[in-house]
Amino acid sequence: MPGTTLTQPTVRTVTTLADDRQLIYYDRGAAAPRTAVDERPLDAQAPGSQIRLDPATGDWVTIAAHRQARTYQPPAEECPLCPSRDGRHSEIPAEDYQVAVFENRFPSLAGPPVALTGEAGGLWASGPGAGRCEVVCFTADHDASFADLTPERARLVLDAWTDRTAELSALPGIEQVYCFENRGAEIGVTLAHPHGQIYAFPFTTPRTARMAARAAEHRAATGRNLFDDLLAAERAHGDRIVLAGEHWTAFVPFAARWPYEVHLQPHRRVPDLTALDEPQRAEFPLLYLELLRRFDRLFGTGRTPYISAWHQAPAGQRDELALHLELFTIRRAADKLKYLAGVESGMDAFVNDITPEDAARRLREVAA
Ligand SMILES: [Zn+2]
Repeated sequence: MPGTTLTQPTVRTVTTLADDRQLIYYDRGAAAPRTAVDERPLDAQAPGSQIRLDPATGDWVTIAAHRQARTYQPPAEECPLCPSRDGRHSEIPAEDYQVAVFENRFPSLAGPPVALTGEAGGLWASGPGAGRCEVVCFTADHDASFADLTPERARLVLDAWTDRTAELSALPGIEQVYCFENRGAEIGVTLAHPHGQIYAFPFTTPRTARMAARAAEHRAATGRNLFDDLLAAERAHGDRIVLAGEHWTAFVPFAARWPYEVHLQPHRRVPDLTALDEPQRAEFPLLYLELLRRFDRLFGTGRTPYISAWHQAPAGQRDELALHLELFTIRRAADKLKYLAGVESGMDAFVNDITPEDAARRLREVAA
Protein backbone atom coordinates (compact mmCIF):
# COMPACT_ATOMS: atom_id res chain seq x y z
CA MET A 1 0.00 0.00 0.00
CA PRO A 2 1.29 3.48 -0.80
CA GLY A 3 0.56 4.94 2.64
CA THR A 4 -0.02 8.48 3.69
CA THR A 5 3.43 9.71 4.55
CA LEU A 6 3.17 13.44 4.87
CA THR A 7 5.84 15.90 4.00
CA GLN A 8 4.33 18.82 5.86
CA PRO A 9 4.47 18.92 9.67
CA THR A 10 1.36 19.10 11.80
CA VAL A 11 0.88 22.57 13.27
CA ARG A 12 -0.69 22.52 16.71
CA THR A 13 -2.25 25.73 18.03
CA VAL A 14 -3.43 25.76 21.65
CA THR A 15 -5.98 28.36 22.70
CA THR A 16 -8.77 28.72 25.28
CA LEU A 17 -12.52 29.20 25.05
CA ALA A 18 -14.47 31.87 26.97
CA ASP A 19 -14.89 29.60 30.00
CA ASP A 20 -11.19 28.64 30.05
CA ARG A 21 -11.63 25.24 28.44
CA GLN A 22 -8.73 24.31 26.16
CA LEU A 23 -9.17 24.24 22.36
CA ILE A 24 -6.45 22.84 20.11
CA TYR A 25 -6.31 23.16 16.32
CA TYR A 26 -4.38 20.62 14.27
CA ASP A 27 -3.47 21.88 10.81
CA ARG A 28 -1.38 20.69 7.94
CA GLY A 29 -0.49 22.71 4.87
CA ALA A 30 -2.03 26.11 4.22
CA ALA A 31 -4.17 27.25 7.13
CA ALA A 32 -4.97 30.71 8.43
CA PRO A 33 -3.35 31.59 11.78
CA ARG A 34 -5.67 30.37 14.53
CA THR A 35 -6.16 33.70 16.30
CA ALA A 36 -9.98 33.90 16.49
CA VAL A 37 -11.30 34.65 19.97
CA ASP A 38 -14.35 33.02 21.58
CA GLU A 39 -16.76 35.95 22.05
CA ARG A 40 -19.53 34.08 23.77
CA PRO A 41 -20.55 34.94 27.35
CA LEU A 42 -19.97 31.52 28.91
CA ASP A 43 -20.14 30.65 32.58
CA ALA A 44 -17.67 28.07 33.83
CA GLN A 45 -19.33 24.72 34.39
CA ALA A 46 -19.06 22.97 37.74
CA PRO A 47 -18.86 19.31 36.68
CA GLY A 48 -19.30 17.55 40.02
CA SER A 49 -19.48 13.95 38.83
CA GLN A 50 -18.53 11.02 41.02
CA ILE A 51 -16.91 7.66 40.47
CA ARG A 52 -18.05 4.69 42.51
CA LEU A 53 -16.67 1.19 42.64
CA ASP A 54 -19.36 -1.50 42.34
CA PRO A 55 -18.55 -3.57 45.41
CA ALA A 56 -20.08 -6.71 43.88
CA THR A 57 -18.21 -6.69 40.52
CA GLY A 58 -15.21 -4.41 41.02
CA ASP A 59 -16.32 -2.31 38.03
CA TRP A 60 -16.07 1.47 38.20
CA VAL A 61 -19.23 3.45 37.49
CA THR A 62 -19.33 7.21 36.78
CA ILE A 63 -22.31 9.11 38.18
CA ALA A 64 -22.67 12.26 36.08
CA ALA A 65 -26.13 13.60 36.84
CA HIS A 66 -25.17 17.17 35.87
CA ARG A 67 -25.03 16.24 32.16
CA GLN A 68 -28.81 16.07 31.71
CA ALA A 69 -28.86 19.66 30.39
CA ARG A 70 -26.38 19.04 27.56
CA THR A 71 -27.06 19.93 23.94
CA TYR A 72 -29.30 17.32 22.35
CA GLN A 73 -29.65 16.99 18.56
CA PRO A 74 -29.73 20.71 17.70
CA PRO A 75 -30.72 21.80 14.18
CA ALA A 76 -27.78 22.08 11.74
CA GLU A 77 -27.75 25.89 11.90
CA GLU A 78 -27.13 25.70 15.64
CA CYS A 79 -24.43 23.03 15.44
CA PRO A 80 -21.80 23.75 18.13
CA LEU A 81 -19.11 21.89 16.16
CA CYS A 82 -19.35 23.88 12.92
CA PRO A 83 -16.90 26.79 12.57
CA SER A 84 -18.05 30.23 13.74
CA ARG A 85 -19.30 32.06 10.67
CA ASP A 86 -21.69 34.84 9.71
CA GLY A 87 -22.07 36.18 13.23
CA ARG A 88 -22.96 32.76 14.67
CA HIS A 89 -20.69 31.55 17.47
CA SER A 90 -20.00 27.87 18.03
CA GLU A 91 -17.50 25.96 20.18
CA ILE A 92 -14.87 26.66 17.51
CA PRO A 93 -14.18 30.40 17.04
CA ALA A 94 -12.28 29.97 13.73
CA GLU A 95 -14.10 30.48 10.43
CA ASP A 96 -12.71 27.19 9.19
CA TYR A 97 -10.58 24.39 10.58
CA GLN A 98 -9.05 21.04 9.71
CA VAL A 99 -9.11 19.05 12.95
CA ALA A 100 -10.05 20.64 16.28
CA VAL A 101 -10.10 19.22 19.80
CA PHE A 102 -11.64 20.90 22.81
CA GLU A 103 -12.60 20.07 26.37
CA ASN A 104 -16.21 18.94 26.60
CA ARG A 105 -18.49 21.60 28.12
CA PHE A 106 -20.49 18.80 29.76
CA PRO A 107 -17.78 16.36 30.84
CA SER A 108 -18.47 13.09 32.62
CA LEU A 109 -15.00 13.37 34.13
CA ALA A 110 -13.07 16.56 34.95
CA GLY A 111 -10.40 17.85 37.27
CA PRO A 112 -7.37 16.62 39.17
CA PRO A 113 -7.36 13.34 41.11
CA VAL A 114 -8.46 13.30 44.72
CA ALA A 115 -8.00 10.41 47.14
CA LEU A 116 -10.89 7.96 47.26
CA THR A 117 -12.98 7.62 50.37
CA GLY A 118 -14.54 4.46 51.77
CA GLU A 119 -17.79 4.00 53.66
CA ALA A 120 -19.60 0.99 55.07
CA GLY A 121 -16.39 -0.58 56.23
CA GLY A 122 -14.70 0.00 52.88
CA LEU A 123 -17.50 -1.51 50.76
CA TRP A 124 -18.40 1.83 49.25
CA ALA A 125 -15.33 3.33 47.60
CA SER A 126 -15.96 6.58 45.78
CA GLY A 127 -14.35 9.81 44.73
CA PRO A 128 -14.80 12.85 42.52
CA GLY A 129 -15.07 12.09 38.80
CA ALA A 130 -11.52 13.23 38.08
CA GLY A 131 -10.10 13.09 34.56
CA ARG A 132 -10.85 14.85 31.33
CA CYS A 133 -13.32 14.55 28.43
CA GLU A 134 -12.56 16.01 25.02
CA VAL A 135 -14.38 16.35 21.73
CA VAL A 136 -12.50 15.72 18.47
CA CYS A 137 -13.94 17.38 15.36
CA PHE A 138 -12.76 15.48 12.28
CA THR A 139 -13.70 18.13 9.70
CA ALA A 140 -15.50 21.47 9.44
CA ASP A 141 -17.95 19.86 6.98
CA HIS A 142 -21.16 19.27 8.91
CA ASP A 143 -22.56 16.74 6.43
CA ALA A 144 -19.47 14.57 6.01
CA SER A 145 -18.61 11.46 7.95
CA PHE A 146 -15.27 9.90 8.84
CA ALA A 147 -15.56 7.57 5.85
CA ASP A 148 -15.64 10.65 3.57
CA LEU A 149 -12.27 11.96 4.78
CA THR A 150 -9.20 11.82 2.58
CA PRO A 151 -6.39 9.56 3.81
CA GLU A 152 -4.40 12.70 4.58
CA ARG A 153 -7.16 14.10 6.81
CA ALA A 154 -7.65 10.71 8.49
CA ARG A 155 -3.91 10.73 9.16
CA LEU A 156 -4.22 14.17 10.75
CA VAL A 157 -6.95 12.79 13.03
CA LEU A 158 -4.64 9.89 13.94
CA ASP A 159 -1.93 12.41 14.79
CA ALA A 160 -4.39 14.38 16.94
CA TRP A 161 -5.48 11.19 18.79
CA THR A 162 -1.79 10.39 19.33
CA ASP A 163 -0.99 13.85 20.65
CA ARG A 164 -3.95 13.75 23.01
CA THR A 165 -2.98 10.28 24.24
CA ALA A 166 0.52 11.48 25.06
CA GLU A 167 -0.66 14.63 26.81
CA LEU A 168 -3.59 13.13 28.72
CA SER A 169 -1.60 10.06 29.82
CA ALA A 170 0.88 12.43 31.45
CA LEU A 171 -1.76 14.17 33.61
CA PRO A 172 -1.62 13.16 37.28
CA GLY A 173 -4.02 10.37 38.18
CA ILE A 174 -4.93 9.35 34.63
CA GLU A 175 -4.88 5.57 34.14
CA GLN A 176 -6.36 5.05 30.68
CA VAL A 177 -6.98 7.23 27.61
CA TYR A 178 -9.87 6.12 25.43
CA CYS A 179 -10.42 7.62 21.95
CA PHE A 180 -13.71 6.64 20.33
CA GLU A 181 -16.41 7.58 17.88
CA ASN A 182 -20.13 6.95 18.07
CA ARG A 183 -21.74 7.38 14.65
CA GLY A 184 -25.47 7.52 14.02
CA ALA A 185 -28.62 8.48 15.89
CA GLU A 186 -29.24 4.76 16.43
CA ILE A 187 -26.17 4.73 18.70
CA GLY A 188 -27.47 7.70 20.66
CA VAL A 189 -25.30 10.38 19.06
CA THR A 190 -26.56 13.78 20.18
CA LEU A 191 -24.71 15.83 17.52
CA ALA A 192 -24.72 14.95 13.80
CA HIS A 193 -21.46 16.78 13.01
CA PRO A 194 -18.63 14.24 12.41
CA HIS A 195 -16.78 14.00 15.69
CA GLY A 196 -15.42 11.63 18.26
CA GLN A 197 -14.59 11.84 21.91
CA ILE A 198 -11.73 11.13 24.26
CA TYR A 199 -12.13 10.06 27.87
CA ALA A 200 -9.10 10.22 30.16
CA PHE A 201 -10.14 7.88 32.95
CA PRO A 202 -8.82 7.92 36.52
CA PHE A 203 -9.29 4.13 36.56
CA THR A 204 -8.85 1.12 34.28
CA THR A 205 -12.11 0.44 32.44
CA PRO A 206 -13.89 -2.85 33.14
CA ARG A 207 -13.34 -4.37 29.68
CA THR A 208 -9.65 -3.48 29.72
CA ALA A 209 -9.27 -4.86 33.25
CA ARG A 210 -10.72 -8.21 32.09
CA MET A 211 -8.35 -8.26 29.10
CA ALA A 212 -5.39 -7.52 31.37
CA ALA A 213 -6.35 -10.43 33.61
CA ARG A 214 -6.64 -12.77 30.60
CA ALA A 215 -3.29 -11.59 29.25
CA ALA A 216 -1.64 -12.28 32.61
CA GLU A 217 -3.15 -15.79 32.71
CA HIS A 218 -1.99 -16.46 29.16
CA ARG A 219 1.52 -15.27 29.96
CA ALA A 220 1.64 -17.52 33.05
CA ALA A 221 0.37 -20.53 31.10
CA THR A 222 2.37 -20.16 27.87
CA GLY A 223 5.08 -17.60 28.44
CA ARG A 224 3.73 -15.66 25.47
CA ASN A 225 1.69 -12.54 24.86
CA LEU A 226 -2.06 -13.09 24.42
CA PHE A 227 -2.55 -10.49 21.70
CA ASP A 228 0.43 -11.69 19.67
CA ASP A 229 -1.00 -15.20 19.77
CA LEU A 230 -4.54 -14.07 18.90
CA LEU A 231 -3.35 -12.14 15.86
CA ALA A 232 -1.06 -14.96 14.70
CA ALA A 233 -3.88 -17.49 15.05
CA GLU A 234 -6.30 -15.37 13.03
CA ARG A 235 -3.74 -14.77 10.30
CA ALA A 236 -2.90 -18.49 10.09
CA HIS A 237 -6.57 -19.51 10.06
CA GLY A 238 -7.69 -16.88 7.56
CA ASP A 239 -11.48 -17.41 7.61
CA ARG A 240 -12.21 -14.35 9.66
CA ILE A 241 -9.71 -11.98 8.03
CA VAL A 242 -11.45 -8.97 6.50
CA LEU A 243 -8.44 -7.21 5.03
CA ALA A 244 -4.72 -7.11 5.65
CA GLY A 245 -1.96 -4.65 4.89
CA GLU A 246 1.74 -4.82 5.44
CA HIS A 247 1.49 -3.48 9.00
CA TRP A 248 -2.11 -4.06 10.14
CA THR A 249 -4.69 -6.84 9.91
CA ALA A 250 -8.46 -6.50 10.31
CA PHE A 251 -10.38 -9.57 11.43
CA VAL A 252 -13.71 -10.55 12.96
CA PRO A 253 -12.83 -12.01 16.36
CA PHE A 254 -13.51 -15.69 17.12
CA ALA A 255 -16.22 -14.86 19.67
CA ALA A 256 -17.58 -11.62 18.19
CA ARG A 257 -20.34 -10.11 20.31
CA TRP A 258 -21.83 -7.81 17.69
CA PRO A 259 -23.44 -8.67 14.31
CA TYR A 260 -20.51 -7.02 12.50
CA GLU A 261 -17.43 -6.54 14.63
CA VAL A 262 -13.90 -6.01 13.32
CA HIS A 263 -10.65 -5.69 15.22
CA LEU A 264 -7.84 -3.78 13.53
CA GLN A 265 -4.47 -4.58 15.10
CA PRO A 266 -0.91 -3.67 14.14
CA HIS A 267 1.41 -6.61 13.42
CA ARG A 268 4.12 -5.20 15.63
CA ARG A 269 2.53 -4.99 19.07
CA VAL A 270 2.52 -1.56 20.73
CA PRO A 271 0.81 -0.45 23.95
CA ASP A 272 -0.78 2.70 22.61
CA LEU A 273 -0.96 5.19 19.75
CA THR A 274 2.17 7.02 20.86
CA ALA A 275 4.27 3.90 20.17
CA LEU A 276 3.21 3.42 16.53
CA ASP A 277 6.06 3.86 14.06
CA GLU A 278 5.84 5.82 10.82
CA PRO A 279 5.06 2.84 8.52
CA GLN A 280 2.20 1.82 10.83
CA ARG A 281 0.88 5.37 11.01
CA ALA A 282 1.10 5.77 7.24
CA GLU A 283 -0.88 2.61 6.49
CA PHE A 284 -3.60 2.93 9.13
CA PRO A 285 -5.80 5.53 7.34
CA LEU A 286 -6.06 3.42 4.19
CA LEU A 287 -7.23 0.30 6.00
CA TYR A 288 -9.52 2.12 8.41
CA LEU A 289 -11.25 4.19 5.71
CA GLU A 290 -11.78 1.03 3.66
CA LEU A 291 -13.35 -0.71 6.69
CA LEU A 292 -15.71 2.20 7.34
CA ARG A 293 -16.76 2.30 3.69
CA ARG A 294 -17.45 -1.44 3.75
CA PHE A 295 -19.61 -0.97 6.84
CA ASP A 296 -21.62 1.62 4.89
CA ARG A 297 -22.13 -0.88 2.04
CA LEU A 298 -23.39 -3.72 4.23
CA PHE A 299 -27.10 -3.03 4.30
CA GLY A 300 -27.97 -0.78 1.35
CA THR A 301 -29.32 1.74 3.85
CA GLY A 302 -26.64 4.42 3.51
CA ARG A 303 -24.59 5.19 6.56
CA THR A 304 -24.31 2.34 9.02
CA PRO A 305 -24.35 3.30 12.69
CA TYR A 306 -21.18 2.19 14.42
CA ILE A 307 -18.96 2.47 17.45
CA SER A 308 -15.23 2.70 16.89
CA ALA A 309 -13.17 2.12 20.03
CA TRP A 310 -9.42 2.44 20.50
CA HIS A 311 -8.15 0.01 23.10
CA GLN A 312 -4.98 1.39 24.67
CA ALA A 313 -2.90 -0.03 27.50
CA PRO A 314 -3.53 1.65 30.84
CA ALA A 315 -0.70 2.83 33.05
CA GLY A 316 1.12 -0.14 34.54
CA GLN A 317 -0.16 -2.58 31.88
CA ARG A 318 2.00 -1.53 28.95
CA ASP A 319 3.91 -4.81 28.70
CA GLU A 320 0.94 -7.07 27.90
CA LEU A 321 -1.98 -5.04 26.52
CA ALA A 322 -1.92 -4.36 22.78
CA LEU A 323 -3.21 -1.30 21.01
CA HIS A 324 -6.06 -2.26 18.70
CA LEU A 325 -9.23 -0.72 17.36
CA GLU A 326 -12.59 -2.43 17.78
CA LEU A 327 -15.19 -1.35 15.22
CA PHE A 328 -18.73 -2.67 15.43
CA THR A 329 -22.27 -1.91 14.43
CA ILE A 330 -25.51 -2.56 16.26
CA ARG A 331 -27.28 -3.05 12.91
CA ARG A 332 -27.83 -6.72 12.05
CA ALA A 333 -30.09 -6.28 9.01
CA ALA A 334 -31.39 -3.39 6.90
CA ASP A 335 -34.45 -3.10 9.16
CA LYS A 336 -33.14 -4.57 12.40
CA LEU A 337 -30.97 -3.28 15.20
CA LYS A 338 -29.31 -5.39 17.86
CA TYR A 339 -30.59 -4.20 21.20
CA LEU A 340 -28.84 -5.03 24.42
CA ALA A 341 -31.79 -6.62 26.16
CA GLY A 342 -32.26 -8.99 29.05
CA VAL A 343 -29.47 -11.42 28.30
CA GLU A 344 -26.84 -8.84 27.38
CA SER A 345 -27.83 -5.98 29.68
CA GLY A 346 -28.92 -8.22 32.51
CA MET A 347 -26.10 -10.75 32.45
CA ASP A 348 -23.40 -9.24 30.17
CA ALA A 349 -23.77 -12.47 28.13
CA PHE A 350 -24.01 -11.72 24.43
CA VAL A 351 -26.08 -13.62 21.88
CA ASN A 352 -24.90 -12.86 18.33
CA ASP A 353 -27.27 -13.60 15.42
CA ILE A 354 -24.53 -13.76 12.76
CA THR A 355 -21.59 -16.16 12.79
CA PRO A 356 -18.23 -14.38 12.84
CA GLU A 357 -17.21 -16.36 9.73
CA ASP A 358 -20.31 -15.18 7.81
CA ALA A 359 -19.72 -11.61 8.97
CA ALA A 360 -16.11 -11.73 7.74
CA ARG A 361 -17.16 -13.20 4.38
CA ARG A 362 -19.78 -10.50 3.94
CA LEU A 363 -17.25 -7.78 4.81
CA ARG A 364 -14.90 -9.21 2.16
CA GLU A 365 -17.71 -9.29 -0.42
CA VAL A 366 -18.48 -5.59 -0.06
CA ALA A 367 -14.90 -4.56 -0.92
CA ALA A 368 -14.87 -1.78 -3.50
ZN1 LIG B 1 -21.79 21.08 12.32
